[in-house]
Amino acid sequence: MIDSCSQESNPLLSIDAALAKIKAAIHPVAGSEQVVLKNALGRVLSESVYSPINIPHERNAAMDGYALSSNDINREQPFTHSLAGTSWAGRPFPGQLQSGQCIRVFTGAALPAQADSVIMQEQVRADGQAIHFPANTPAQQNLREIGEDIAQGSLLCAHPKKLNAIDLGLLASAGIYELSVKRSVKIAFFSTGDELIALGQPLETGKIYDSNRYTLSGLLADASHSVTDMGVIADNKQLLEDSFIEAAKHHDVIITTGGASVGEADYVKEILVRCGEVNFWKIAIKPGKPLAFGKIGSCYFFGLPGNPVSVIVTFQHIVAPALKQLSGAPDAKPLRLTATCTTALKKAPGRQEFQRGILTQDDNGEFFVASSGRQGSNILSSISRANCYIVLPIECKSVQAGDKVSVEPIINDNQMII
Ligand code: AMP
Ligand code: MG
Repeated sequence: MIDSCSQESNPLLSIDAALAKIKAAIHPVAGSEQVVLKNALGRVLSESVYSPINIPHERNAAMDGYALSSNDINREQPFTHSLAGTSWAGRPFPGQLQSGQCIRVFTGAALPAQADSVIMQEQVRADGQAIHFPANTPAQQNLREIGEDIAQGSLLCAHPKKLNAIDLGLLASAGIYELSVKRSVKIAFFSTGDELIALGQPLETGKIYDSNRYTLSGLLADASHSVTDMGVIADNKQLLEDSFIEAAKHHDVIITTGGASVGEADYVKEILVRCGEVNFWKIAIKPGKPLAFGKIGSCYFFGLPGNPVSVIVTFQHIVAPALKQLSGAPDAKPLRLTATCTTALKKAPGRQEFQRGILTQDDNGEFFVASSGRQGSNILSSISRANCYIVLPIECKSVQAGDKVSVEPIINDNQMII
C-alpha cells in the first residue's frame, strides 16, 4: 500500500491484515466465576443456560374475559353459562369447572384443566351470575399454552453470549438466580508524555491536560473488564520499563497512549522490544497510523498513538475487537450503512480513513451524512459532535457532495444494535 500523503518507505498494513494478526495472537481468558443474575449484565456466559421449567409453566389467560370448556361452546347460537368464580393472576380459581359453567379470568391467570377457551370480556354480557355468550363464539382462543415460549430443558442463552438487559429478563423468567460467566479481563492503562498535566492543576506553558486517560476510561467501561487507571508516566525509559513490567504481572492487557511513533521521545517500541515481544505496525488508517502490539510475559500490550482522535479510532477499530475476543465474547463486525454525503470530503489514496460525520435520516428513510468539522487527529471537538464515521476505502480519492459513502454509526452503549 503506498500512502501518497506520507513518505513511508515500507508498505502500510491494512486494517484487516492487522485485525487478522491480532485475532491469531489472542487467546480468550481462561477461567469463570459464579455471579448472581443481577450482576450478570454485560458479562460473557461461560456455559449455555437451559430452562429448568416450562414457560409458561401453567396454561393461563392471554386477556381479560371469561374462560370455559370448548366442549361447552354452542357454535350456532347464543348461549348462557353460570359464573362459578374468578381466577386472578396470582390467585387461581381453586375448583373444577362443571359443564354449563364459566369463570371470570384476568390476563396471566392460571386456568382450571377443563377451561381451554377464553372469550374477551367485550364479547360477553354479564347479568349477575348469568354470562351471555354470542353466536359464533370461538373455541381455544386467547390462551397461553404451557411451554409455548420456552420448553423445559431447552436453550435459554447460548455460551458465549454477552448478556444484555433482555437476556436478564429471559433468565429471570426461568428462575435462574446464579450463573457461570467468564472471568473479567484485567486491563491497565497509562498516558505517556512529559507535556501532560493532571486535571485540577493550572495549565503551564508547553503543557496540556491529559485527555486520553479520560477517553480511555470511558471507552473501557464494560462489565467484562476490570480496569486499572495507572496515571501518567513521563517520557523516561526506566520509569516506563518499570511501570510496564509491574503492570504486566497483574493484568491481561496494558494499553498506553503516546510515545508510539518515531520521535526522539517515543520510547514505547524500544522498551517493548527490551522487555517483551513487539509487532510495530504502521496501519493504513487515518487517523491512527502507528500502533505497537505485543506481549510482556503473558500480558498483551497495545501502544496507541498520542493524538486524541487517533486513540479513539484505533481503540474502537483495533483494541475493542481484541478485548472482545479476549473476554470470550462472539465477534461482531461494526454495522455499516450507505448514505449520501452532503459535503465534499478531502482524501488522498493510500489509507482507509475514518472521517467524522453527522448521520441523519429523512422522512423517506434515506440516510444522509455531513462532515462534522475539521478532521485533524488532534481535533476532539469534531468527534464529540459526530455520531458516525464516514469510512473511505484505501484507494478512494476525495468525495464530492452527492456521492454515496459507507457510514459506521458510533453506537452508544445503551443501544441494542449488535
Ligand atoms: P506522541 O505520540 O507522544 O508524539 O503524541 C502525539 C500528540 O498527542 C502530541 O501532540 C501529544 O501532546 C498528544 N498527546 C499525547 N498524549 C496525550 C494525552 N494523554 N492527552 C492529550 N494529548 C496527548
Ligand atoms: Mg509523547
